[in-house]
Amino acid sequence: MADLRDLYQEVILEHSKAPRNYREVKGADKKAEGFNPLCGDRFTVYLQMNGDSIQDVGFQGSGCAISKASASMMTQSIKGKTRAQAQELFGHFHKVVTGQSEDESQLGKLTVFAGVSEFPMRVKCATLAWHTLQAALEGKQEAVSTE
Ligand code: ZN
Repeated sequence: MADLRDLYQEVILEHSKAPRNYREVKGADKKAEGFNPLCGDRFTVYLQMNGDSIQDVGFQGSGCAISKASASMMTQSIKGKTRAQAQELFGHFHKVVTGQSEDESQLGKLTVFAGVSEFPMRVKCATLAWHTLQAALEGKQEAVSTE
């Protein structure tokens, strides 16, 4: 199990060092800002929708390794999905990282964040980008805060 943990940490570190889709999406029709005051993580998520599908997604900002890796892997996971599919995925992800569920079968690569459930302080880091995504999908104007 320890080896698996190390492997997960490697994936998270790698994403935090070289985040995917780390850019402003030109012509984004939705965006939202999110802030985690507990840790100081702050991101903007940009979305370009095609009807009900997420055609393009990007993010910018700064934060700890967990929050950045989570944002990076979130963009990879939701690109091309519908709004409902993305929200459903967030539902599964949220349950696993908060320890309410151990069913990781829906998470794909996002399984690397399952260990976060053992560190309550880190849950908000791992979910910040997702809360921000949700705000963008809902067209909220105010910045979301995890507090
Ligand atoms: Zn953080």
